[in-house]
Amino acid sequence: MDDAKIIYLDNAATTRMDQEVVEAMRPYFSETFANPATLYQIGQKAAKEVDKARDRLAALLNCSPEEVYFTSGGTESDNWLIKSAAWHGNKKHLITSAIEHHAVLESVHYLVENFGCRSTILNVDKHGLASPDALRKAISKDTALVSVMHANNEIGTVEPICELAAICRENGVPFHTDAVQSIGKIPVDVKALGVDSLSLSAHKFHGPKGIGALYVRKGVAIQSFIHGGGQEQGLRAGTSNVPGIVGLGAAAELAQKHLEKHGNREWELVEYLWNKLSASIPKLTRNGHPELRIPNILNISVFGIEGEAILLGLDQHGIQISSGSACTTGNLEASHVLTALKLSPAEARGAVRFSLGRKTTKAEIDRVIEIMPGIAERFRAMSPLWKN
Ligand code: PLP
Repeated sequence: MDDAKIIYLDNAATTRMDQEVVEAMRPYFSETFANPATLYQIGQKAAKEVDKARDRLAALLNCSPEEVYFTSGGTESDNWLIKSAAWHGNKKHLITSAIEHHAVLESVHYLVENFGCRSTILNVDKHGLASPDALRKAISKDTALVSVMHANNEIGTVEPICELAAICRENGVPFHTDAVQSIGKIPVDVKALGVDSLSLSAHKFHGPKGIGALYVRKGVAIQSFIHGGGQEQGLRAGTSNVPGIVGLGAAAELAQKHLEKHGNREWELVEYLWNKLSASIPKLTRNGHPELRIPNILNISVFGIEGEAILLGLDQHGIQISSGSACTTGNLEASHVLTALKLSPAEARGAVRFSLGRKTTKAEIDRVIEIMPGIAERFRAMSPLWKN
């Protein structure tokens, strides 16, 4: 099938780049290709574009450009912030939630295994929400950092970040959020959220892969993670990825415009998809919070069959979705997120995620609504679990 014609509903894994972003980046590969740290004109031209992108991203986040550090993506931003908090200073207790992305959980795990840190992993309720009370109880005099994600990548639940951050402020503990999935989907205003630091990644909002950023509030201590040259205020060394940074800036601007103009579009399409599927397929359940969620994710469990079967069945019709998290595809065990929701094994195994993008159309959703009941019926006819 022509790749351009697929019905791509796996935008939480990555997004198709917006053509405007591709065009914005193009000159910085081969025309204005110079290193922005150089003094001659073409270098200074590139440097200006880097500044412009930083300004655009700062406008999206409602922070100052000096508080934005470019990185290689969400994983690096999470690693940088968490390891910096644990390595520098004498506090060794880290708090996070059970449904974080592996970039957070594995960073914490690594620090516990190798650097004498201790962790508290906050449980979530059946909708995926972390509890402010549980956080209040978990904070100790030794807590170096609390990191709780803004929106979950599998179920879309939006965590009560304002409340969690306020508790941390009261206790003088820095608060970080992984906003990789929420940027471009809901407003992400670092001041309104009250966070000290925040991670993001361009390829999740129609920008390029391999570029992201870490916001660190002025006055919050952050140590260098990648040592070398003096880029990013001397805190993140390495020649700047100018095309990527320009792409991130362009994607941030487009995300902001989309939010202002069409903020509800994906929400309506997801509700439409859920209403139609749940009316035509028996025994479907919805995972994640029905209200407190980003607009573009629908996670459902199709009782009696494996999510992978549905994924492959839809793929034969040119429709791409995900079962569990794409980052752990290949691993058929229920994801740690679904496990944390305490779904039954059958519900967890039958979970699939539809994640819409900015350009997803109603016609594409209608095609899923047309195809999916037949797939569920075909696989259920072969399923001993369903027959029983
Ligand atoms: N955090 C979350 C919530 C994610 O969904 C992802 C990617 O799936 C990441 C972090 C990692 O981001 P990146 O792919 O830019 O390294």
